[in-house]
Amino acid sequence: MRVLRPSISLLLAAVMGGANAVVSALPGPPTRPEQEHLRWKGRSITLSVSSSVVQPNPNFKPDSDVIGAIRRSVDAWQAAAGLDIQIEFTDKQSVSPSGGAGDGISILTIAQTPDNVLLFSKDPKGGSAKTRVFYNKKGNVTEADIVLNPFEQFSTDGAFGTFDLEATIKHEIGHLLGLHHSAVLGSVMSDSIPRNDASGGERINSDLAACDVAAIRELYGAPDDDADCCSSIAGKLNIDRGARDLRVWAEETDTGRVVGQAKVAADGSFRIGGLTAGSYTVNWQRTDTDGKSVGLLSTVKISKNETRTLSERNPATRSTVSLELIGSSERLGDSAYHARGGREYTILVGGRQLNANSCSIEFSSPLIMLRPGSVVTEQFEDGMTALRFSLSTDEKLQPGAYTVYVTSGASRSALIGSIRVN
Ligand SMILES: [Zn+2]
Repeated sequence: MRVLRPSISLLLAAVMGGANAVVSALPGPPTRPEQEHLRWKGRSITLSVSSSVVQPNPNFKPDSDVIGAIRRSVDAWQAAAGLDIQIEFTDKQSVSPSGGAGDGISILTIAQTPDNVLLFSKDPKGGSAKTRVFYNKKGNVTEADIVLNPFEQFSTDGAFGTFDLEATIKHEIGHLLGLHHSAVLGSVMSDSIPRNDASGGERINSDLAACDVAAIRELYGAPDDDADCCSSIAGKLNIDRGARDLRVWAEETDTGRVVGQAKVAADGSFRIGGLTAGSYTVNWQRTDTDGKSVGLLSTVKISKNETRTLSERNPATRSTVSLELIGSSERLGDSAYHARGGREYTILVGGRQLNANSCSIEFSSPLIMLRPGSVVTEQFEDGMTALRFSLSTDEKLQPGAYTVYVTSGASRSALIGSIRVN
């Protein structure tokens, strides 16, 4: 067994290298009920693109398709939920200051103005962008300003070490529309969008995942011509106050594709909406200071426009094994591993109490196959253990986000939707 000792700084850089984009009017998770479901009142929204983004700019790799990246990002969300997002151009440069009501103009900017720079003052290299959302007492968004980090490099061709502009803008427009971060690593709304080549695997793909489509449809409904939407899975968990974060997520029972997730509210209630009719496996995940534990809630078959309410459950089982990071080579991070069908990959997952002799690895899709005998244990500094293994993907594996599970006795942990197939 080869012992890996990546430097602490390398490991932390990988972990921190996300978008870390916050809904700045909401420091941390939603604390008031109206923050849970922010949305624009109507379906027509105008995004004003600052001249700082359009003009030649040292932050963008030369020949980057900036307008194309903005257009594709807008189009993807529009198509998913039947929204009408108009793009205008403006000489305005700065995010509206926090604390006020805003000026009602939602801008996309990268200018190095004092108000914009202030958003990144704590950690200038800390993330690709931030979005400040303004909303009223009814929970209606009235303005949302997106600031691309003026200290970072962006590209549209996968250039090493840069942020993918389309992935970044698509994520921030998700915030602009009212979405919070997703626990699905392969989601556009995952809180960690890596730099290109940060986690190995294929080039980052920023297409909306099924769970992103469901999330936006839960807020705005489906386009008028989509008769299959929307169904929901709702329920209640007995909350253990010790858990730092409690989530539920759903996978298609036959394909294993992650189709939706939801944060469990303070009263234990949850709702995964925006789904199409189908058969789903519903799981819970609790995050504690000592790791992540998962378990099965139910398998359900829901029909069109149905809301299925699951009986109350208690997510009590704490797992001794914990999956927290994924990557390849000698790098672990908290963003998805990008793969394709019909290939072989060697992957590393990191966490706690991971041991090749006692842990079994599974994937939510039967078309992702572990190579027998390939699992080895590796040690990282600061007590983190990792499992290295090889897998093959079937040619018929459909695009989507798939989950990695590790089981050891009665303990079970997962990286939700962490293998993103393009
Ligand atoms: Zn974000």
